[in-house]
Amino acid sequence: MTATAGTAATEARRAIVVLGMGGTIAGRAAVAADVVGYRAGVVPVAALLEGVPLPAGWRTEGEQVANVDSKDMGVPLWRDLLAAAYRHLQRSDVGALVVTHGTDTLEETAWVLQAVLQPERPVVLVGAMRPASALAPDGPGNLADALTLAADAAQRGIGGVWVTLAGRVFDARTVRKVHPMRLDAFAGGDAGPAAWVEAGRVRWLTAAMPAASADAARAARIDTVLAASVWPRVEWIHSHGGADGALVRALLQQRRAALAGGDADPPLAGLVVAGTGNGSLHTALTEALAQAAREGVAVRVTTRCAEGVVVGEGGRGGNIWPVTDLPPAKARIALALELLWRAAGVPVSPAGPGRRAE
Ligand code: ASP
Repeated sequence: MTATAGTAATEARRAIVVLGMGGTIAGRAAVAADVVGYRAGVVPVAALLEGVPLPAGWRTEGEQVANVDSKDMGVPLWRDLLAAAYRHLQRSDVGALVVTHGTDTLEETAWVLQAVLQPERPVVLVGAMRPASALAPDGPGNLADALTLAADAAQRGIGGVWVTLAGRVFDARTVRKVHPMRLDAFAGGDAGPAAWVEAGRVRWLTAAMPAASADAARAARIDTVLAASVWPRVEWIHSHGGADGALVRALLQQRRAALAGGDADPPLAGLVVAGTGNGSLHTALTEALAQAAREGVAVRVTTRCAEGVVVGEGGRGGNIWPVTDLPPAKARIALALELLWRAAGVPVSPAGPGRRAE
């Protein structure tokens, strides 16, 4: 990752647009002590912003794009969010975006925004682990941190998509949800946090920023995604003890039926396989995948390990199919986008998304 060439915020760009998607940060329970049995995606984004301190010299604008539990994210909501984000990023008075979002699929949405928009201005995703109605909700503090991070990054000319939770900052590529309950539920794997937000200030730990590669095809890629109501069907499977390939064979049957017009669901187009360790795959699974590849299914290999990436060609997985350094949930999105863009004849972004820069 290289330093971004984003433009520093000027006086004319002093708005942070806050796009509400829902999640626990917008959740409510009947009882304040209940931090499990609440409904996510209830409180409007305007209410979330009430009383949250603003970075000096900035104003906020809220827009409710959706208000859902993020377990239900998918192409239609990603498309709505991409359209809203793209619209605001083209405004000259907007310095940064903040997206309030459920934590469960936040890393996937972060990667969708990064892979498709490659924004030159900062886009910060934020969530909470306790609902807004909790005795000690973490949402207001996290949202204040997100505004601080957005303003700081804009002022430094840092673009790209970032995530903050519990004072830590991660980039869209490395961030993963690693805990179902803890307030600091996100981690950045080997990379760790890129920055901390402390007492209203951002302490960057690294000079490495996501590149904002404004290559000529970016607009065509964005238009293609905004025009697509479905993405090529990519499923994500694991190798494991006893992985006999039956799941792949069932998916191939679905693909054959769909291609013959006998199944209304889109045909399987790609498979992301989270291999054991350094991307190794059970021999029986490998045989089923080879059959899938012969029938035109794109196969990508990653690791099911919580940290690290497949090194070299991988162990009996990557030496057959391309390896990605993305974790499985993001690798699935990357392959779907790659197939979507290839089908539209649009160049896939440099080094990906989700492919190693050679
Ligand atoms: N289920 C919630 C969601 O992802 C969890 C959260 O926001 O933390 O919307």
